Amino acid sequence: MINKNYSALKESYLFSTVARKQREFASENPSLKIYKMSIGDVTLPLSKEVVEAMNKAVAEMGVKETFRGYGDEQGYRFLRESIKEHYRSYNVELDEKEIFVSDGAKSDLGNFTELFSADATVLVPDPVYPVYVDSNMMAGRRIKYIKADKTNSFLPMPSEDDAADIIYLCSPNNPTGAVYGRKELGKWVDFALAHGSVILFDAAYEFFIDGDLPHSIFEIEGAKECAVEFCSFSKTAGFTGVRCGYTVVPEKLVRDGVSLNKMWLRRQTTKFNGVSYIVQRGAAAVFADGGKGAKETIRYYKENAGIITRALDSLGVFYTGGSNSPYVFFECPNGMDSWEFFDLALKRAQVVGTPGAGFGENGKKFFRLTAFSDRETTMIATERLGNLIADVKKG
Ligand code: PLP
Repeated sequence: MINKNYSALKESYLFSTVARKQREFASENPSLKIYKMSIGDVTLPLSKEVVEAMNKAVAEMGVKETFRGYGDEQGYRFLRESIKEHYRSYNVELDEKEIFVSDGAKSDLGNFTELFSADATVLVPDPVYPVYVDSNMMAGRRIKYIKADKTNSFLPMPSEDDAADIIYLCSPNNPTGAVYGRKELGKWVDFALAHGSVILFDAAYEFFIDGDLPHSIFEIEGAKECAVEFCSFSKTAGFTGVRCGYTVVPEKLVRDGVSLNKMWLRRQTTKFNGVSYIVQRGAAAVFADGGKGAKETIRYYKENAGIITRALDSLGVFYTGGSNSPYVFFECPNGMDSWEFFDLALKRAQVVGTPGAGFGENGKKFFRLTAFSDRETTMIATERLGNLIADVKKG
């Protein structure tokens, strides 16, 4: 009667174990302050523009003439227009019908898999954001992994053995912070077109990119025939608790003679009733003035990331991320295992990070730090961790 695929899921021990170890240490050492560099949530508040837009929308909802009930199926036009304009700034032209507003990227990433048959094969990079693996395991799909490691700077490229129906890519990546360049992404698009695969491209951190790196897979020629893109206001604009995201499903994306855009519309209109008017007004305000408010907040986080990466540079430690991402993924000193390093960092430096092992086999000698803490915590934690790494290296 029940879906037995759920029993094949691994328990999600990562964040609960991190929290438990931190709690136990705190109760055994009540006088010591703990520096949290593991958090994947934002800490700075919503920007002024967003708050004002949401306040105005709340007031409208209290007046008969401006009150709104159920919204437009794919999201309000004003928001889809803003998203379309945002893509235009990357030279990507979208049709409004290709944009679907949702309550966040996690739900869409999980729900989109409903469009594929249970025997579709899935390719997932290792290490990776765990949602891709778990949502496909729930459907009983066969998952193949592609190795991301130091040798490819955590940006794996496909070979013939990697052919699969569904391919997940995340850039900037969680947990590694690595970002694909245009040429590399172009190779993935060519590979997907040659094999009839669909790339599910997670661009949740695209606002963190500076310089000439692709923000969207649709900047790559041919991507509209083989890719779907998932975006989120969570890390872009502090919406982790507000909840809003969007997914782009190109009209040109057709498999087995069926339009995935039409399938997704059918799926969403059957099972989802949209995001609140108030939240969508707030989301549209994120793009005001070229995303100025969001970019200021991101600059603060990225300065934190810079503090971490400069320290790692001076210690000669290998890492990815930091410059175009809120994550820094570094190699544990002396080949240490990531949980072993976690315990040491907690005990000796009182710094909490996330062991790379929690994101996959290839993360097991790496450690993830996030830039979402406040400046003071970041500075103290980085100094303490730097001293610890130097000590461990000395032996
Ligand atoms: N995709 C990646 C790579 C993430 O790291 C996260 C959140 O941490 C999400 C998606 C989920 O985003 P949302 O809050 O929009 O559901």
